[in-house]
Amino acid sequence: MDTRELLMHLSKLENGLDTYSFTELNTKEANRLKKSFESFKNGLEEKVFGMPKPEPVEVSLKKTTTKPPEEHTMIAKVSHEIRTPLNGIVGFIDLLKETTLGPKQQELVNALDTASGNLMNIINELLEFSKLASGHDTFEKVPFNLKNLITEVAFLCETLITDSKVELCVHLDKNLPEQLLGDPSKLSQILLNLVGNAVKFVEKGKINLEAILKSDQQGKVYIEFIVADTGIGIANNKLQRIFESYRQAEDDTQLKYGGSGLGLSIVKEIVDRMDGLIAVKSALGAGSTFKVTLPFEKARQQDITSPRRPIKSVPRSLKHAKILVFEDNVLNQQLMENRLKSWGCQPFVTENGLYGLQLLENHEFDLVLMDLRMPKMSGFQITECIRQNKQDHIRNVPVIALTADLSITDREHCKKVGITNYILKPYNADELQRMMQELISESEKENKREISQITFDQTSSIVNLNLLYEECMGEKDTLAELVQLFKRNMYEFIGNVRMHLTNNDSRGIGFAVHKIKSSLKMLEAKSLAQICGKLAEASESAAYEALEKYYKQFLNEYPKVEEAIDIELNKL
Ligand code: ADP
Repeated sequence: MDTRELLMHLSKLENGLDTYSFTELNTKEANRLKKSFESFKNGLEEKVFGMPKPEPVEVSLKKTTTKPPEEHTMIAKVSHEIRTPLNGIVGFIDLLKETTLGPKQQELVNALDTASGNLMNIINELLEFSKLASGHDTFEKVPFNLKNLITEVAFLCETLITDSKVELCVHLDKNLPEQLLGDPSKLSQILLNLVGNAVKFVEKGKINLEAILKSDQQGKVYIEFIVADTGIGIANNKLQRIFESYRQAEDDTQLKYGGSGLGLSIVKEIVDRMDGLIAVKSALGAGSTFKVTLPFEKARQQDITSPRRPIKSVPRSLKHAKILVFEDNVLNQQLMENRLKSWGCQPFVTENGLYGLQLLENHEFDLVLMDLRMPKMSGFQITECIRQNKQDHIRNVPVIALTADLSITDREHCKKVGITNYILKPYNADELQRMMQELISESEKENKREISQITFDQTSSIVNLNLLYEECMGEKDTLAELVQLFKRNMYEFIGNVRMHLTNNDSRGIGFAVHKIKSSLKMLEAKSLAQICGKLAEASESAAYEALEKYYKQFLNEYPKVEEAIDIELNKL
């Protein structure tokens, strides 16, 4: 068939359309027709013009002017209502995980765990979005260190990357001001969402996170944040809609990648509220680049040094008191650590029951704060072990339970296992301080401090936090946060290697080792690095007996390293 013939057929078909009764089409037929036409058109284009790569198109988003509808308040209420029972479900799943389960049950509980975790994420995003859209969310204006914030975001996102084929690079303009005034948590949220999406949609390649100073005039700066990836990209005609709530680029995105389609609407809402601009440039298969420009004020010296809250006097009995905190929620860990340090206490925070019990063996603590619901060993079980210990100083340490809810049975359980007192979350700081003060005896504390000092000095050979401290530019809070992340990585590593050993997956072990190598180097955790070197070697030759042996060595060594890190951190 030559071109003339083909054109003739097409013209006949076109004429035929006039007589065709489209009104009789049902949805299924209409869809089939549409699909068949599209595939014909694509085929023709491909044959005539070859396969042109779509050109990236840039779309800048206008500020949303529509006022929040009532709907948002309703969504917020409903999400709240769902979150409460969901919290219960998550709690029960945790309890179930603590019991002995067969392989099938384990599998089902894991599925429940993942599903409830996903649901919780969606509910939290919904709540966040409706709070923002209804204008009920307030924005802070506090001094913060921009470089530290970006380092933290990058560190967090690194933990999301599970594949060595994806690389995250950070570029910071050297002219960026150190200290800004604004809302650091909202900025983190924007960057975490954008980089988080990039991690999700890049299978292999690079993600760049860049911050550039665009202008600096009269104490006001405009900073451009660019998140660029080499991932799947977004079709030109879908670029607008991805910023609409509950919308994803493709119909099958949810199926392939999960998500609620709310992340970018949250980002857009925050950017609008901060008087910023957002734009995206992308094309299918050509990666995506999101640009966010935000105004900030530069922080002045008096902003940085002026205390945000009046400092209250702290009772002498709490100063230097050594407090062991069992808590598994990273946010609560951080809150508690900061609070205790602000009272002059020496906190040691752990989510690991066995490690905490070992710490009690090695150091005399003045008090234990115990989260009752923790994944592996519950607070009740840990307290039971404490009370059964042969050594007086361990057996008699006061234990305060911290919990969000306490049923009557829980109260009886507390009494039975020997919990000294309890406090309900969210608690008032004064209340906690008063309770701790009552339980800590001044004289006992004085004696203990001297003993503990001796063991403290041996830790610097196990780890060295100086390099990381320098990276944090001397910001101790940032260092503490990074240390928490390091610990989480290590727990994940331990869990992953266990899993790979069970599945005889030596490559998985090699990859897991590869992922933690740089963190170990950063903290100069030589003993662990050495064991990891052996694990890597054994993984190459799939030597499972050796892998089991070195894994056990790692398990034995890790608690010592974690203890040393805590002690080093307290020394700074
Ligand atoms: P979610 O990721 O939860 O689906 P978002 O609002 O964050 O919701 O993103 C909306 C949609 O935009 C995503 O579902 C995806 O289709 C598209 N998208 C966002 N970021 C990227 C990216 N970096 N690469 C490709 N597609 C993206």
